[in-house]
Amino acid sequence: MSTGLPLLEISGPPQERGHQHGEAFREQITTLLEAYFDYFETTSRAHGLKALTKERVLAIAGTYAEPAARYAPDLVQEARGIAQGAGVSYEEILALNAFLDILDYMSDAFARGGCTTLMVPGALDGTGALIAQNYDLPGPFPPAALRHMLTDHVNEPLAICRHDALVHGERCGQTICGIVLEPPTGRAWIAKGPTCENEWVEYGLS
Ligand SMILES: [Zn+2]
Repeated sequence: MSTGLPLLEISGPPQERGHQHGEAFREQITTLLEAYFDYFETTSRAHGLKALTKERVLAIAGTYAEPAARYAPDLVQEARGIAQGAGVSYEEILALNAFLDILDYMSDAFARGGCTTLMVPGALDGTGALIAQNYDLPGPFPPAALRHMLTDHVNEPLAICRHDALVHGERCGQTICGIVLEPPTGRAWIAKGPTCENEWVEYGLS
């Protein structure tokens, strides 16, 4: 089944692979970079924190360059290739790939942010067990994009959207519902059952 997510097949040594990747996604990368730097600056300012300007984010990311090159030179080569292919600087690609590390510079609260996964075990044989996960995503992630992500079928049967998936003959879950909440506007969207084949219904949170 097509998920609507872009599929890119690349090959060759690291730098060459990166170049193909950067060239193919040049538009998405430059669009994302703009939103990315804007997100750090506006969010840090909105919280009254020391502003994470683009200049500061690049400076922070720059401190990772040497350790990254020492630890994973092939990945650094690939990142350099992406930068060349997309026509942006290596430092920008490095900053983009250090999202969670840079987020930690916002404050302790941000450093503790992220996702939560919970599990209700159900019976001893596994029947009735529930798994749920949220991800708190501020900034440039519109609700429509999040709803789309929840219909994802990449890596089936271990995709985000599951249909009574069987792995090695074992039943490993079915999507009961997808929920997207947008607290600032008081809106919520819920799709009952597997998200790819059920309608998203909008609700108010108040
Ligand atoms: Zn599905």
